[in-house]
Amino acid sequence: MFINGEWTGAQDGSSFPVTNPADGHKLAQVPNGGKADVEKAILAAANAFDSWSKTTAYQRAQFLQKAHGLMMDNLEHLALTMTREQGKPLKAARNEVRYAADFMGWFAEEAKRIYGRTIPSARPDQRFMVLRQPVGVVGAITPWNYPVSMITRKLAPALAAGCTAVIKPAEATPLCAVELFKIFALAGLPAGVANLVTALDPTPVGEAFCTDPRVKKLTFTGSTAVGKMLASKAALQMKRVSLELGGHAPFIVCRDADPVIAAKGLSLVKFLNTGQACISPNRIYVHESGKEAFLCELTAKVAAMKAGSGIEKGVSIGPLVNEAAVNKVDNQVKDALKKGAKLITGGRRLTEDGLDRGWFYAPTILDRVTEDMLIYREETFGPVAPVITYTDEDQLLHMANDTTYGLAAYVYTRDIARAMKMFEGLNFGIIGINDINPTAASAPFGGMKESGMGREGAMEGLDEYLETKLGGFSLR
Ligand code: ADP
Repeated sequence: MFINGEWTGAQDGSSFPVTNPADGHKLAQVPNGGKADVEKAILAAANAFDSWSKTTAYQRAQFLQKAHGLMMDNLEHLALTMTREQGKPLKAARNEVRYAADFMGWFAEEAKRIYGRTIPSARPDQRFMVLRQPVGVVGAITPWNYPVSMITRKLAPALAAGCTAVIKPAEATPLCAVELFKIFALAGLPAGVANLVTALDPTPVGEAFCTDPRVKKLTFTGSTAVGKMLASKAALQMKRVSLELGGHAPFIVCRDADPVIAAKGLSLVKFLNTGQACISPNRIYVHESGKEAFLCELTAKVAAMKAGSGIEKGVSIGPLVNEAAVNKVDNQVKDALKKGAKLITGGRRLTEDGLDRGWFYAPTILDRVTEDMLIYREETFGPVAPVITYTDEDQLLHMANDTTYGLAAYVYTRDIARAMKMFEGLNFGIIGINDINPTAASAPFGGMKESGMGREGAMEGLDEYLETKLGGFSLR
């Protein structure tokens, strides 16, 4: 753990193992932080806030730029750590490190644009001035599926704003966080400004973030259930909260779209990170006129996918994170098949050629998916493409919006009017129009409804860490 500028073990001396999900091998032991450790980290962050919040934007930008450069210099090492610990293919891990570093670079620039404003008053002897100030100590909890970028997406704007932070990474992927913090230390991170607490049991850390009055803001990425629980606790102190939670993204192939192009797009976005992404398509609506061509192309793409360790060349399907993930996916597939879905390919755990040592599931296509199936409502977080055929376009928006989630949606169409209608009518925070990667450090990422609150990235991402203060000056 990295607390107050020093590497340290847990105060009670305990630790927990980290394993490779591709083969079950133990990679390392990391400190198992508890209540005393998180309190020490919060104290360090609270002490550092006074000086860090008074640095100039240029000083903060300098640190962020330096960290960006060092992340890029160490891209291969970070990517390898990620592939071993989390499982995604090396090429995808490299892309994630680039995306993660981008947050450091982008918010280094944005730090210099934390503008206030003056407002004309109706009284001749009065002036209004609006200041933006850092909210204070931030408690951040991050998930395992994007173990580097989910840290920088929170930390870069927090530090740019002048906040200090305590980060708790997911128990499955603490090594990525450790390697990242080594880079921050090398980049000259002042003691206490950002602290890392690793823990097998996240409960005491979550509890401290929600109840310690020194923590002014909670930022969380993970499941909707945990996000709701933490937000309700944090509400007792009216802490600022931002949440990036689950999703159930519609992927709509309109009547006028080229189904082959859409299927290519789907094959890329659906199976990215083996489907373990909150913006992964989970309800694929294909107009009946294009369904055959769509399924034909998708099946060919899936047939060419190779599962295995992400270190191996040519592998595009890495392992799922653990046994529970495999069971959840399998349960949804079995439920769908029992209720009349048609299995086009996949539909089973992969065990041949040594894959049984890891948590592999075959890339799967289900046709004839209907509303009564679990997969139609529950997030899958696995490599399953559930295809739904539609005929009535008037019903489409209603069907796509009929979910408690509201994170991402994708639409394939060549008709500008239809694209605009979908863009405006879909109740999701991120809409990809003929675009399967509508994410960037410069673009606001976040969801509506039970997918969360607040945005990350872009100027909205910085707002999450800033208070607005009004000054009324009487000149009398
Ligand atoms: P997932 O199902 O994707 O693992 P979780 O919400 O369980 O999603 O985990 C996301 C992050 O939230 C991880 O860092 C995890 O340790 C943390 N977490 C899980 N349960 C709690 C909790 N009760 N309090 C605080 N953090 C938690």
